Order: sequence, then C-alpha cells, then structure tokens
Amino acid sequence: MDSFRDLELEEKLLRAVEACGFESPTPIQRDSIPAIMEGKDVMASAQTGTGKTAAFVLPAMHQLLKPKKRQGRGPRVLVLTPTRELAGQVNSNIQDLGQFCRFVAGSVIGGMPYPPQIRLLEKKVDLLVATPGRLLDHMERGRIDYSDLEIFVLDEADRMLDLGFIGDIRTVAAKLPSARQTLLFSATLEGKVLTIAHDLLNDPVTIQLASNNVRHELIRQKVHHADDLIHKHRLLDNYLKNDELRHALIFTATKKTAERLANILEAQGHNSASLHGDMPQGLRKRTMEKMKQGKLRILVATDVAARGLDIKGISHVINFELPSVAEDYIHRIGRTGRAGENGIAISLVSPEDWGKLREIERLTNLPVERSVIPGLEPTRAGPEFRSNTAASRLPRFGKRRRRSGSRLRR
Ligand code: AMP
Repeated sequence: MDSFRDLELEEKLLRAVEACGFESPTPIQRDSIPAIMEGKDVMASAQTGTGKTAAFVLPAMHQLLKPKKRQGRGPRVLVLTPTRELAGQVNSNIQDLGQFCRFVAGSVIGGMPYPPQIRLLEKKVDLLVATPGRLLDHMERGRIDYSDLEIFVLDEADRMLDLGFIGDIRTVAAKLPSARQTLLFSATLEGKVLTIAHDLLNDPVTIQLASNNVRHELIRQKVHHADDLIHKHRLLDNYLKNDELRHALIFTATKKTAERLANILEAQGHNSASLHGDMPQGLRKRTMEKMKQGKLRILVATDVAARGLDIKGISHVINFELPSVAEDYIHRIGRTGRAGENGIAISLVSPEDWGKLREIERLTNLPVERSVIPGLEPTRAGPEFRSNTAASRLPRFGKRRRRSGSRLRR
C-alpha cells in the first residue's frame, strides 16, 4: 500500500491529498484508513506528528461523500479534542483535505464567542470539532441534534482523560446514536484509555504503532544536568546562540515561568514570545500564527497551550523545566522532527527534577543521552538510566544478560 490511490479514497480526496503535498500514506494512515472505511470501530495509538489527523479525517470525509437523507441538521461526524489548539489543528486539516468538497464544518470550542458557533449549529453541519466543555454547554441548551451522527472521534483520548474530561466524554457519548462508528486515537493505549475504549467502542480494531518505548527516530534527545537556574540560563544561552537552532519551542512547567522566560529572552534580544492558557484566545492565535510564519524564533510555552501545535521547521524543543507528567515529555518532543525533518530535544535538568527524569526514562525505557558543554559542566553527575526490563531486576550476581535499548520491542 504505497499510494493513497491504493486506499480507494474518493477522487476529490485524492486531489486534496496531492494538493497538500502528501506523497504516500504514513503508517498510521495505511493501517487506519481501510479499517475505518470498512465501518469498524478503531482504537489507535500513534505519536503526535505521524499524520494521525488525516488518518481519521480522510475516511470520515469519504463516508460523508456518500449521500444521506438527513433527519435533522446535526453533525454526521463529531471530533472531540482536549484543547482549543488541537481543535484548530483538526479544523485546518479538514479545510485542507476537504478543499474540493462542499462540507459544512466548524468548531465549538471554549474561550471563543458564542454567536458564530450558534450560527454554525443552525446549519446542516457535516463535521463538528469540539472541546468537551463548550460542546456540553451547547447540548444543554438544546442546540445540537445527533440524529444524523455516524462517526464519533476521540482525539488524543489520553490527554482528555488527564485533563479530567472523562465524565464529559461519557455524557456526550450517551446522547449519540448507538449505531455510530467510534474511533479513538491516543498516544498511549493503557489504563483509563482502555477502560473508556472498552465502554464506548464496539469490537474495535486495535492499531498500535506507537508505544512509549518507541524511539523517535528523527529526534535526537539530550539531557544537560544543571546545578541551578543560573546554570540553566547559561546552557540555554549556548543553544540560542547557535545557528543550528532555527526555531525553538521552549517548555516550562507553569504559565508564570513561561511569561518570565519569554520576557528575559526578549530583553536579551531574542525574537521570542510566550504561549499559555491565561492569554486571551485572540492573542494565542496571533502568537501561533507568527510562529508558523517564521516571524518568531522562540516560543516559550506550557504543555496545555502547546498541545496540538503543528508548526513545521521547529529545529529544537527545549525542556527548560521537565513536565510533571512523564507522558507529556513524549508529546513535547514530538513538536520537532515533524514531517520527515530531523529535530533536537534538549532537557535542562536540575537536581530537584532528577525524579522526573527517572520517570520519563522508566516510561520510555530508553536512556536519554547525557550531554556536557565544555566550560558548562555540572558539579553533580545526576542519575543514570536504569532499564525497567525484567533482566534489570535480576540480582546483581550470577550471569546477567544485558539488553541494549535498541533490542527492546518496538
Ligand atoms: P498530525 O500527526 O496529524 O499532527 O500530522 C503531522 C503533520 O504531518 C501535519 O503537518 C500533516 O499535514 C502532515 N502529514 C499528514 N499526513 C501526511 C502524509 N501522508 N505525508 C506527509 N505529511 C503528512
């Protein structure tokens, strides 16, 4: 299955795929599209940046191109996403891939004015992208009719559950026709995600392309141990002065540090801005646009704000502070090394974050390269990688076979 044509998608969609410059389906598209076109429920794990949005948007549109006698005016496809940014991203994929079709599509997301959303819901909507809170708000006011709903997509389900949307998801699902097709996409398929999948999906096909211990092939990951904040700033400065760094996304743990760091960098003459959840939606949008257009070199962001951020050409992701949830590390580094480019992911780790580094390596079960810049060596070595395979738990005597990271199951 080397070409989109082999997937037997409608001609209008094939033209759009070509116009987007997609030459061949990515693995998640190759595996998901046929199963979705067969009408199966699908739960798929795929790393961010692998083309997972088109993996459900294309077959959903293929279904929409089949004529249907409408009973009401509600959506035929509903996509739930954890954040407004991701909703925006899905929407722009819908615009691009539906450019030769006449779909009515739009989003109902928090933080945006109600009137345009109400006007959208008064039309016969084909595809609706929504964040849970605002969707429920419209539902409670009787503005959404689900009698025509055919496909329900849960995008980044793991993240929605992390953000506490489990009750909202169940409330929405309970209002949908039971004969629908349900698709669940998630970075990981474990724990609470499996429970919700079990409850909402019907005999699903499981597609597991990404697991936590899959190495991001195109992303070089490095850790710098830093003694303190001043040391972190020196290490950061070293990277920012390097021409190899074209565009960087710097992550902080809080909105406050994001803002403070962006101000410091701006004062140092770097072309930078911050992106976090306390900013008005309009400003967030403008900041993202600037970054997308290459007008900013550095964006300092928090995890929630950066979720779903799809910006081509980010050469470096820098974790100025490690995330408190280890899974977020995988999401963060996935912002670089996109669409076939190489990327560098750097983590500046001070002693109070050693525990978080251990958590991340336990999750990925791969060591992150320890890196030292001459003249900026740390005074303390920091923790070393410890594999969490059964072999590593054998007592430290007798014969013990070492397993290297590359031999772990991918
Ligand atoms: P996603 O994982 O959906 O966030 O997609 C990541 C990026 O890959 C987006 O910029 C897409 O436009 C791009 N993309 C999606 N499918 C393909 C494909 N088949 N070939 C090349 N790029 C793609």
